[in-house]
Amino acid sequence: VFQLSVPLNFLGSVYRELKQSLLDMENLFQLQEHEIKIKDVPGAKPLVLNQHTIPGEIRFENVTFGYHPDRPILKNASFVIPAGQKVAIVGPSGSGKSTVLRLVFRFYDAQLGRILIDGQDISQVTIESLRRAIGIVPQETPLFNDTIKENIRYGRLDASDEEIDEMIKRVQLDKLVKDLPDGVNTIVGERGMMISGGEKQRLAMARLMLKHAPITFFDEATSALDTHTEQSLLKTIREVSHSEINTNVSIAHRLRTIADADKIIVLNQGRVQEEGTHKELVEKDLIYANLWNIQEMFELEKEEGLENEKLQ
Ligand code: ATP
Repeated sequence: VFQLSVPLNFLGSVYRELKQSLLDMENLFQLQEHEIKIKDVPGAKPLVLNQHTIPGEIRFENVTFGYHPDRPILKNASFVIPAGQKVAIVGPSGSGKSTVLRLVFRFYDAQLGRILIDGQDISQVTIESLRRAIGIVPQETPLFNDTIKENIRYGRLDASDEEIDEMIKRVQLDKLVKDLPDGVNTIVGERGMMISGGEKQRLAMARLMLKHAPITFFDEATSALDTHTEQSLLKTIREVSHSEINTNVSIAHRLRTIADADKIIVLNQGRVQEEGTHKELVEKDLIYANLWNIQEMFELEKEEGLENEKLQ
């Protein structure tokens, strides 16, 4: 028995690692063709999360980074995402919002400056411990050709079926599951049943919650969901954010979704241009206020359009 269990366990852990790295790869914001060169530094230690107070503070110190060194995307960027707070990163398209997330997750390392989590330079900790501390709801949820249950289990591979059922309830996928002949064992994904964008995001949320990560990133999709889906998704996000004390970072395109954030960081051309609450930034009447006014104009027009449709 002993002889057998060793190689099987070994295979098991290799399989799990493989699955996990696949997930990391997939999770992943359209990691186009470039290869990933980031490795643990010799003697890297696991990230130690703050035990005494709330864990999950992220600190950018004079970070400069470009996908091509001669074209910096972040330029000497410094900001703090306080532990346990709801923080939004906003800015015009191409300003580097998603790049912040890729750097924190270490798909790339900064060329200059440091990124610290709970006071530790993330380039010096093990990648495995770093990524374990961070949950992501990506713009596009990767679904594997597998059952609903297994798709959720990717959040934490050793989660029990009961935990998964619990998460399905919390993101309100239980109604959908009940109506399916195979329930949680229904295959979804390209070769299985197609589920809607909103359901996909709920599944991503269940995956995220299963991970119990102290830091979560929501990479808000650019493509607009319909109003009903958006409202219910927002509700889910709020519930998730409130149900656990953790650091929530939203990479936001639609400012209405983050107006209640504790802190909004405004990036512009790779620099931190403004920081503050929605109210403070609107009063400042600079970049954020400008973005807000433009978006509100569109939103109001859209609402008026809908009203007119109803009247006709
Ligand atoms: P959006 O709001 O449009 O999603 P963003 O603020 O999230 O934009 P990033 O995705 O961080 O912007 O991209 C910042 C800049 O870096 C863009 O000009 C983009 O073209 C460039 N960029 C992003 N990924 C890569 C890459 N893998 N290789 C080269 N350039 C890239």
